[in-house]
Amino acid sequence: MSKNVYLPYSATSEKAHVKSMEHYREMHNKSLESTAQFWSEIASQFHWETPYDINNFYSYNFDVTKGPVQVKWMEGATTNVCYNLLDKNVRNGMGDKVAFYWEGNDPEDYSKITYKKLLEEVCRFSNVLKSKGVVKGDRVAIYMPMIFEIVITMLSCARIGAVHSIVFAGFSSDSLAERMADCKCKVLVTADSVYRGDKLLNIKSLCDIAMDKAKNFGHEVSTCIVVRHLPRLYRSMNTSNGTNGSNSDIIDLHSDVPWTDGRDYWWHDEMDDVEPSCYPVWVSAEDPLFMLYTSGSTGKPKGVLHTTGGYLLYAATTFKYVFDYHPGDVYWCTADIGWITGHSYVVYGPLANGATSVIFEGTPFYPDNGRYWSVIEKYKVTQFYTAPTAIRALMKFGEEPVKKHNLDSLKVLGSVGEPINPEAWLWYYQHIGKERCSIADTFWQTETGGHVITPLPGCTPMKPGSASFPFFGVKPILLDESGKEIEGVGEGYLVFNKPWPGIMRTLFGNHERFQSVYFSKFPGYYCTGDGARRDEDGYFWVTGRVDDMLNVSGHLMSTAEVESVLTEHPDVSEAAVVSRPHPIKGECLYCFITPNHGVTFTPQLSSELVKKVRESIGPFAMPDVIQHAPGLPKTRSGKIMRRVLRKVAINDREVGDISTLADEHIVEELFKNRPEKS
Ligand code: ATP
Ligand code: MG
Repeated sequence: MSKNVYLPYSATSEKAHVKSMEHYREMHNKSLESTAQFWSEIASQFHWETPYDINNFYSYNFDVTKGPVQVKWMEGATTNVCYNLLDKNVRNGMGDKVAFYWEGNDPEDYSKITYKKLLEEVCRFSNVLKSKGVVKGDRVAIYMPMIFEIVITMLSCARIGAVHSIVFAGFSSDSLAERMADCKCKVLVTADSVYRGDKLLNIKSLCDIAMDKAKNFGHEVSTCIVVRHLPRLYRSMNTSNGTNGSNSDIIDLHSDVPWTDGRDYWWHDEMDDVEPSCYPVWVSAEDPLFMLYTSGSTGKPKGVLHTTGGYLLYAATTFKYVFDYHPGDVYWCTADIGWITGHSYVVYGPLANGATSVIFEGTPFYPDNGRYWSVIEKYKVTQFYTAPTAIRALMKFGEEPVKKHNLDSLKVLGSVGEPINPEAWLWYYQHIGKERCSIADTFWQTETGGHVITPLPGCTPMKPGSASFPFFGVKPILLDESGKEIEGVGEGYLVFNKPWPGIMRTLFGNHERFQSVYFSKFPGYYCTGDGARRDEDGYFWVTGRVDDMLNVSGHLMSTAEVESVLTEHPDVSEAAVVSRPHPIKGECLYCFITPNHGVTFTPQLSSELVKKVRESIGPFAMPDVIQHAPGLPKTRSGKIMRRVLRKVAINDREVGDISTLADEHIVEELFKNRPEKS
């Protein structure tokens, strides 16, 4: 085993679901060799109204040349995801258990909801949706902040067999309009407004614009249901216990919300008139549960469709093992529910395990840079799951904000969204986990439904920056350019030739695009679009998008490799590297650098960085350009959009679709900041 390996903490191992690598290998082998047996044992813990057939548990075709690509698990069985998440847990005596703690943007705003209460609210809202004509198979668009009602809406859809399509409530009206028109939603569920940090966002006004714009795409949303969220916040601002607000405030704020009679309805008015019970609709295991658009890092977002039975099994199982969840734990995933991480690991996975989780409405920087750590302390969080971009942003402020809080409750730290650079990994491990926590660097995609490559806490010896080993049911394969499988140590395209229960089934309304995007490059394989390396110990290292690979003087390099060297420099907060055509080398390295808080970008820093890359990787990797980047172009889920940086590097202003960027202004700034005039 190579150096730089961090062994799991023994106290965690003793109690872990998977206690050793031998145990992991045994389970992993079983999941591949006796796939139906392995997953049917897990399926038996859930309720099936019509049972599955163990002899026909799953089927698939990944080979476009042999007919349509298709994946099916437990076809013929019927169930209801909402029933399994709520009714089943309530029946098992967990009615009074807290399902979610809610922590508002303002630290004075918080509440909680039990399983029993959640079920009641879901039943009510299911009846509301039915009263608006929503039936099985209809799409319901959701554009909401991180409040209980977003979960209630999702589960109500699941209860009546409707398909939810969530659009992250930071997207523009154009993006919302396009997605609503694409999924042809009957209903849109939203809220009046929300605070993010100290910024007030009028979500309903934005929805109105989006509903108008959707008409230009030939789609009319017939019903819009609006949660009255803002007065609730004002109420708790006026009173410390959040119960005794001033009515006049509420009425004033009410009248500020733009309204179309006959289309718009207040959530609370509708909920008043309905029954608190609603019989679940039994749906087929292969009926759709939800659709969700990818982050759009590489191009136009894709409307990924997930179905019922397989997704339930996979979200539940990955949650249990990857976070090593045990009853009594308090779990917190900071992802917005508008991303796949929020779907699988704020809502479906935790509830399927009867877990207690935190839902957080705010940002890591409000009211101060210690907010995450204060929330962990307040709820005694045991598992914390966030993104490298957040870790890097918080590292900038040093250890002081962390030291003010007691983080002793933590056992597992998760990371998702991008490769985590070893520098950030170590900071997370040492300063947040105090060298006692396992880090789960979870590699997966909207398309995979759940984690596919990840360490297991208490079990996997960790290497900073490596997502390590495949989850149960998953067998990663590396292919070279010619489509040949690479055995042993090597680097190539990360692909799969066999499905696991949670893999997507199609792109909504566009099975052709589904086949061409994922299955046409290498017939017989699902192509992730990411590259990966397998080291001498069999660990997988995801190296980033294959399209972002660099070829300098015949040396193939990944952006992640160079970026992790750059971020090791004590003055560097973030780095992004792209290639630029070069007359002699073929391609050369163009690096964007964001210095730490309070550090000025100087020619000296720049030459130190060039030297560092030269020494760590080799002379061929020496960057040609180091550019100061006050910020990097990131998608709203926090990923660096390297295709935009490639345009900056060649001074080409045709940057393509940047609607999924969090801050479009940064692009202009980067063009202005180019060190060369050409
Ligand atoms: P689009 O497909 O529209 O370009 P996207 O790929 O960013 O958007 P997601 O499904 O949200 O949309 O992200 C999945 C991608 O995120 C992966 O393909 C991979 O590139 C990256 N990723 C996620 N987790 C990790 C991780 N732990 N290590 C490395 N990369 C990761
Ligand atoms: Mg993708």
